[in-house]
Amino acid sequence: MRIGIVGATGQVGGVLRGILAERSFPVTELRLFASARSAGRTLPWQGGEVTVEDAATVDYRGLDIVIFSAGGATSKALAPKVAAAGAVVIDNSSAWRHDPDVPLVVSEVNPDAIANRPKGIIANPNCTTMATMPVLRPLHQEAGLTALVATTYQAVSGSGLAGVAELHTQVCKVAETADQLAFDGESVDFPELAVYERPITPERAAELLATAPGVELSSIPTPLQAAGKDVSYVGRIRTDETVEHGLALFLSNDNLRKGAALNAVQIAELVAAAAHT
Ligand code: NAP
Repeated sequence: MRIGIVGATGQVGGVLRGILAERSFPVTELRLFASARSAGRTLPWQGGEVTVEDAATVDYRGLDIVIFSAGGATSKALAPKVAAAGAVVIDNSSAWRHDPDVPLVVSEVNPDAIANRPKGIIANPNCTTMATMPVLRPLHQEAGLTALVATTYQAVSGSGLAGVAELHTQVCKVAETADQLAFDGESVDFPELAVYERPITPERAAELLATAPGVELSSIPTPLQAAGKDVSYVGRIRTDETVEHGLALFLSNDNLRKGAALNAVQIAELVAAAAHT
């Protein structure tokens, strides 16, 4: 497959290249795109280098799949042009998520939805949604989920390379007095609440989740455990006695992998498989 990545110089773009290689995605040609600022830079790929092209001015013809990770404005402006040139667009931004003609796909949950893409665009949900859906699907099938209260803590990398650089600067500034900080991430305990139509016990939920694709049980899921891993870790599953049929659980997942790049590659795998049938 001839693959393009728009936003190749960013965090998600870098993880995308890694995941395409790790999963031995059948890439016959890789083209990398970013803003005019990065045009001419080279990035490593399979022992060689690929030159970054200016996304705004290139000819996209000849590509099979183009994955966008360059912000909503870029996706809005360029995705239709890329789709018109013949590629299937998989978009990581928020630009197309509310468009009824653009399927919103989590590979473990609704893979068949990729087939109905009248605009040639498939959207990746928000990273927190993608982390949560592989966990909620088997519980919903069992007990009929009717309401969800989610408390989320997003990684600073969710704000792009600039956000990570800002945190790095701040951390360096406070490093000498860090032991005086009153915060302890491991002591934070904000469970996620789910309300179901039918009763479901924590034991049954754990039994279902033990075999759910993209999910791994963990006694205490933490961001450190999830960073760099593909699965959604779920644990601390308890009955929530404040509501009828309530279940509380804690989950953690890597926003750059399943929350963005991994799901995009999994969708690309579905598109590639469909193209060969
Ligand atoms: P990032 O590290 O800041 O990278 C942004 C990328 O977009 C860079 O490659 C940048 O190229 C490119 N870009 C910016 N303006 C552009 C333009 N006008 N034309 C073409 N390329 C342009 O951001 P990120 O964390 O990788 O996130 C990228 C996208 O993925 C965003 O849409 C974000 O919402 C989405 N997303 C991110 C996460 C996450 O956890 N980070 C999760 C899910 C979805 P230059 O280097 O040339 O500026």
